[in-house]
Amino acid sequence: MGIKMRWEDFARSMGVEPQILENREARVLKEFVMDLKFPTHCQGCQGLDLSNPNPVHHPSYELTPACNHDCIFCYSNVAVKLGKAPKPGYYGWENPYAITVSQYGEPLISPRIVEVNRMLRERFPNARLDLQTNGSLLTEELWRKLDFDLVMISLDAASREKHLKITNADTFEAVVNALRIVGGDKSVRSVVRTIFMPGINDEDIPKIAELAASLSVDEMMLQPLTIHELNVERLKRAGLDFERAESVRDFLKAAMEAKEYIDVRISGCQLAVYRTMDPLTLFSAKRVGRDVAPAVKREKTKL
Ligand code: SF4
Repeated sequence: MGIKMRWEDFARSMGVEPQILENREARVLKEFVMDLKFPTHCQGCQGLDLSNPNPVHHPSYELTPACNHDCIFCYSNVAVKLGKAPKPGYYGWENPYAITVSQYGEPLISPRIVEVNRMLRERFPNARLDLQTNGSLLTEELWRKLDFDLVMISLDAASREKHLKITNADTFEAVVNALRIVGGDKSVRSVVRTIFMPGINDEDIPKIAELAASLSVDEMMLQPLTIHELNVERLKRAGLDFERAESVRDFLKAAMEAKEYIDVRISGCQLAVYRTMDPLTLFSAKRVGRDVAPAVKREKTKL
């Protein structure tokens, strides 16, 4: 019968202290992960609870699957193409911790945004209300009519040209202006939401962090890329490095660079898993970043 030894004990029996076998970069990654805070948006989400075998996202109120951007990575576009986008309405339960408006499409396109925002405040006075938008349609005038606790504005490029390439919309200035509006309003938590797309926007990420910080935006939520089958060709054409897109180490290094400028956070459900990994696993881990069709796992509920 063979004797099974833990690798640490094996190293000791060879006269080597185990931590010497770990590389320095792996240790730095681990420390970084243990220091990172969960994004404000993730607080209260089932995704943080690793003992939950089938976590679902926060409740959301869907206004429209339509969007004035056409991003090369977007799951909402894919859902529309596959006929899987949710119909407008509330997808959640009673007493929600937080509600996202919305997970699909661009909510500020809808003429009902102000009315729905008010209705949700009245119906769920204890819930945190999160607006998730591409920012391009936000004006001072509209902002005065809205009432959210947290605003996430998507920005994946630090220049007009790159933004156009990623979103297929010439709206860079408008999005920057939206970040300025929400960053300047200290009654709301403002977040710039950025997707890590190596080969496309790795150089932009620290610049976006710097730009957002200069506009007093509170936080950056950096998210890994999920590659939807229908987007593969577009991502390829834009220059995505598919291997690095799945590397946890590369993703964390991008977060480290952004941290020089802003309070960076990474998706909570990812962070919860990374925290359980030992340094070497973290260093070499690959994320399965592929998906065929995005789906809402919550029932539509009549309000
Ligand atoms: S990123 Fe994960 S933890 Fe955060 S809100 Fe989304 S599903 Fe929940």
